[in-house]
Amino acid sequence: LGKRMSEDFSSCLRDIPDFPSPGIIFKDISPLLANPQKFTAVIEAMAKLVKDKEIDYLLGIDSRGFIFAAALAQKLNLGMVMARKPGKLPGDVVSQSYELEYGTATLEIQTDAFKAGDRVLIIDDVLATGGTARAAGDLVEKMGAQTAGFAFFVELEFLNGKQVLDSSSVTSLVKF
Ligand code: AMP
Repeated sequence: LGKRMSEDFSSCLRDIPDFPSPGIIFKDISPLLANPQKFTAVIEAMAKLVKDKEIDYLLGIDSRGFIFAAALAQKLNLGMVMARKPGKLPGDVVSQSYELEYGTATLEIQTDAFKAGDRVLIIDDVLATGGTARAAGDLVEKMGAQTAGFAFFVELEFLNGKQVLDSSSVTSLVKF
């Protein structure tokens, strides 16, 4: 158990300096996705982190969040919903805009994705400042559903993203 718990997933990441803009160290998950044993281990470990939560749906955030949410949905036998960048989803959508360092961004979910009171676990690859995940949570609540928590593969703790989320319900596998 100890060995499994302490498995070092940081080797599954590659740091790309100054991407997509100067000063950002991008956490590239490509090495993880290229390694089926590691990717399976990561999904199993993330599933364990959230196994005691009451969850009706997983919400994957465009676009790397989809990868983790889809794999977790299979593992946990739960449905998955997509939170997408504007103009990507067909039919009626609910939108939420949020502030970025420069400018604003928007996420959308199809209007009929949730029933009132559904408990939704929000999934993304990296938690940085928390603005994106917070917007996804706001969107879930705008739709009359509930945020069951947040799960990430990587958390950049020095950016304090947890503070803009409900910190008690945030889990991640690899912390920097
Ligand atoms: P934030 O809203 O600041 O928490 O940013 C989170 C979103 O941006 C997530 O969808 C991440 O995929 C992406 N992101 C932010 N910072 C990084 C980083 N250093 N490496 C990889 N992805 C990042």
